[in-house]
Amino acid sequence: MAKKNIDWENLGFGYIKTDKRYVSNYTNGAWDEGALIDDDMITMSECACVLQYSQTIFEGLKAYTTEKGQIVIFRPDLNGDRLASSAKRMEMPVFPVDRFVDSIIETVKANADYVPPYGTGATLYVRPYMFGINPVIGVKPADDFQYRVFTTPVGPYFKGGVKPLTIKVSDFDRAAPHGTGNIKAGLNYAMSLHAIVTAHNEGFAENMYLDAATRSKVEETGGANFLFVTKDNKVVTPKSDSILPSITRRSLMYVAKEYLGLEVEEREVHFDEVKDFAECGLCGTAAVISPVGKIVDHGNEICFPSGMEKMGPVTQKLYDTLTGIQMGRLEAPEGWIKVVE
Ligand SMILES: *Cc1c(COP(=O)(O)O)cnc(C)c1O
Repeated sequence: MAKKNIDWENLGFGYIKTDKRYVSNYTNGAWDEGALIDDDMITMSECACVLQYSQTIFEGLKAYTTEKGQIVIFRPDLNGDRLASSAKRMEMPVFPVDRFVDSIIETVKANADYVPPYGTGATLYVRPYMFGINPVIGVKPADDFQYRVFTTPVGPYFKGGVKPLTIKVSDFDRAAPHGTGNIKAGLNYAMSLHAIVTAHNEGFAENMYLDAATRSKVEETGGANFLFVTKDNKVVTPKSDSILPSITRRSLMYVAKEYLGLEVEEREVHFDEVKDFAECGLCGTAAVISPVGKIVDHGNEICFPSGMEKMGPVTQKLYDTLTGIQMGRLEAPEGWIKVVE
């Protein structure tokens, strides 16, 4: 085995085909045994349910090399649980969580040469997903499904240092009450594309979505949960049934309490109180935490005291602690780190 000749530090976040992917098919009411395959192309009916009615769900996690040189993945069982809850909401069969974790490990192992070395900031992004594959024209769930896992090496999220983001309060809604905001379904992203392109065209990095019913409470961005720090160092994250339960956010809240001894609160956050917070960050697998320096609400600017040059002090501590745990520099809570090889 030899690492691929890739300029790890300068990798972007784009798709690069790797050697192997995992596939399991669900037909006649059962999953087959699954296999690693070479073919990156999928052939399906022109009328496949996923193409007509978007019956598709996904997960995202990373494999990386620790300080000691082990390849590991972070809390994959939680991704498996979340894929299961997405499947149930979308009338899809559950792919058993133990098989999910095994499929991730197998796929990462088979592409170990693409796992970036320690210290490069790059990682191997792992994308498990499932979709309805048989022809469906009258609206109903598919009968047959495909579950796949592919990997792609991705570069450090912040090249040349972390820069706080400027985001806008969106005029669009991300998720309806009692809708699908709390599951990781492609449909949530399809309808967010226009909103993110609009925000980018206006010079913003991301959208802050408010709750669709009252437009008075903070929900999340298109792909990351919010974390706020109060002026007296309390860590606050919005609670809502239409937020996607980020594994990074849940891990950071644990770290805040158990490693840093901070007070933590998961509760409704009114947009009106955002101006009073000291720090703001976005949490997700991709960046762990992206600091937010400024939020613009129809011309009104909220500028956090942490500024536009660096992360706020509490955000930085949270970031350092969680990445320290992930990279093996700090002891991890039981079960958080799964060694691939
Ligand atoms: C995936 C995702 C997140 C981040 O979740 P992690 O498990 O931390 O990667 C947050 N919000 C949305 C809408 C997402 O799809």
